[in-house]
Amino acid sequence: MIVVVKIGTSSLTDEMGNLEVAQIESLVQQIAELKKDGKKVVLVTSAAIAAGKPALNIAEQPSDYLSLQALATIGQSRLLSIYEKELNSYGLVGGQVLVTLEDFSNRKHYLRIRAVLEKLLELGVVPIVNENDAITDEEIRFGDNDRLAAMVAHLVRADKLILLTDTEGVYTADPRLEKDAELIREIDEINKELEKGAGGTQSDSARGGMASKLAAARIASWSGISCIIASSFLENVLAKAVSGESVGTTFKPKDQQLSSKKLWIGFAAPVCGVATVDDGAKKAVVEGGKSLLPVGVVSVEGEFESGDALEVKDLAGEIIAKGLTNCSSAEFEKATDEFIHRDDLVILV
Ligand code: GLU
Repeated sequence: MIVVVKIGTSSLTDEMGNLEVAQIESLVQQIAELKKDGKKVVLVTSAAIAAGKPALNIAEQPSDYLSLQALATIGQSRLLSIYEKELNSYGLVGGQVLVTLEDFSNRKHYLRIRAVLEKLLELGVVPIVNENDAITDEEIRFGDNDRLAAMVAHLVRADKLILLTDTEGVYTADPRLEKDAELIREIDEINKELEKGAGGTQSDSARGGMASKLAAARIASWSGISCIIASSFLENVLAKAVSGESVGTTFKPKDQQLSSKKLWIGFAAPVCGVATVDDGAKKAVVEGGKSLLPVGVVSVEGEFESGDALEVKDLAGEIIAKGLTNCSSAEFEKATDEFIHRDDLVILV
């Protein structure tokens, strides 16, 4: 069994960015238990940016991206040295893997990352993954590690994705604002209502929040992987989640799984525009599995090039699909060939 565990900044550091060593100790001890039990574990860890702050005596989170990148270079090595020390105390070894969003769109890089992660697992090493914040472009990045963890889970064909955070799971409303909010134990389908109820993060240094966790759970679900969102502070949370004990919120995986290319188109490719389609085209692409033809496109928004990702909306404004266009916005009026080929189109309803 392969388990991908993601832990967020708010579980690993205090507001000043000091690493919560006891929390890391507990996490590593639980990972060691899973390993002893024959499970393969990939750890996706945040907190590089936050952990850089104490080194430079910075209390406030800087707002400019370059400063955040500088902090990440400092914090990442501090973070890793603690993981390494803790893993070593259980006779385990960690291997750092830093990735970017672009690595997931470049097939060569993608296969390379998969190969190295598989090699590490084969060697019994715990891969410790984070976004390569130091070199990542501000516009083209995951930003939070939730979606990154879900893409990694797909990449290594994980059985479970466990997102550890500072709340118990997904609630019917934001529990920090509404005291009647109830924890939802199981989610079959991530709908609009859930997304509306999901709050962002309240921490200055953490990037995620529930919205990005739901986005990650959706990627896992489309990858056929069961996803659990649970509290990092719950005792033995990893063993409980892996054994199927009811902790936090569990998302049901879909029976049908997307290929890695379609997963990237659907959930990672930056959106460059919107195409609104008529009812006939909607039926043809959603029910008929057809390509989207220019004749069914009522309007396009945004400036895009051939190969860019567009959201496809129906006349009611609902997103029904996402795909890579075959023509630029400038050429659209004259286009006669398929606007988005079915192989480059992901149906999201
Ligand atoms: N890559 C970021 C870091 O390590 C992730 C930030 C976050 O998800 O909180 O700081």
